[in-house]
Amino acid sequence: MNRNEKCFCGSGKKYKHCHIDIEENSVIGDLVLLYNKLDNLLKNSKKPANCHAGCSNCCYHMFPVPLTEFIYACYGYKKLYGNNSIEAIINKGYNLYMAALKSFPKVTEICKNMESITSMEEYLKYLDSSLLLMEMAKLPCIFLNEETNLCTIYNYRPSVCRYHGIACFSLEDDTDRIHTCDVIPNGVPISDLINLDPIYDEFMEQSFFKSEKYDITMFDSLFPMFYFCYLFFTGKDNFRFKFDLMQKCNRSDYADGMFERNRKRI
Ligand code: SF4
Ligand code: SF4
Ligand SMILES: [Zn+2]
Repeated sequence: MNRNEKCFCGSGKKYKHCHIDIEENSVIGDLVLLYNKLDNLLKNSKKPANCHAGCSNCCYHMFPVPLTEFIYACYGYKKLYGNNSIEAIINKGYNLYMAALKSFPKVTEICKNMESITSMEEYLKYLDSSLLLMEMAKLPCIFLNEETNLCTIYNYRPSVCRYHGIACFSLEDDTDRIHTCDVIPNGVPISDLINLDPIYDEFMEQSFFKSEKYDITMFDSLFPMFYFCYLFFTGKDNFRFKFDLMQKCNRSDYADGMFERNRKRI
C-alpha cells in the first residue's frame, strides 16, 4: 500500500499512521480484519460482571494463543514502545517461563504435547492440557503492567482477551475445576458474552495455512505466550523470520515459506 493511502483496516487513518508494514491480505492483515469483526460483535455483547480497566485477574493464567496473535501483539508492542522493545518482551517471557517451570515443572511437558498438534481436532483433544495450564500457579501475562494492572498492548490484544473468553472457559462442564476469574468464580456461558457464530468459520480458517504449491496444510501453533518467548529466546524458532513473513505474505505464501524453511532444516 502507498503510505498516504487510507489503511486497509478501515480506520480512516493514513496507512503510515495505522498498520504500516502490514500488507493487506497478509496473514496479519487477515487477522486485523477479523479483529474488526469481532470488536463489532462485542459492541452488542455483555461483559462479565465488573469487567473494567484495572481488573486483571484473568491476565494471570497460562492460556494458549495462536502464533499469529502473538506476533500481532509483538507488532503492537514494537509500535508503541520502539524497535528494541521486542527483544525486551521476549526476554521477559523467557524469564517468566523459567519461573513457571519452578512452580510447576510439568509446564514443559504440557507445552511439548501441544507442539505435536496438527489439527483443530487434535487441539480439542489437548484442551484438557490447556485447562490444566490455566489451573496452575498464577503468573502475569508478559504484556501486563503489574503496577497499573493495565494491558500494555490493549488494541493489539488476542481475541480471547477481547471477549473475556478465559473467564468463561469450559465452566459448563465442570464448574469446580477451573477458576480463572475471581470476580465471577463460576464463570458464565460464552454465549452470554458474545455470539461468535457469524465469524466462527473465519476463525477456523485462520487457524490453518494451506500451501497450493506444495499441497500441504499447516496448523497455526498454539502456546502460552511465554512459551513462544522461550522458543524464540533459545533459538529453537526464528522470531524475525516469522514476524516478517506474517506481515508480508498471504496465507498460501506463508505456508510455502514455512515448508521451504523446514525442508532446509531437516
Ligand atoms: S473477566 Fe473477570 S477477572 Fe477478567 S476483567 Fe472481567 S471481571 Fe476482571
Ligand atoms: S494480552 Fe493484555 S488483556 Fe490479554 S492477558 Fe495479556 S495483559 Fe491481559
Ligand atoms: Zn489500519
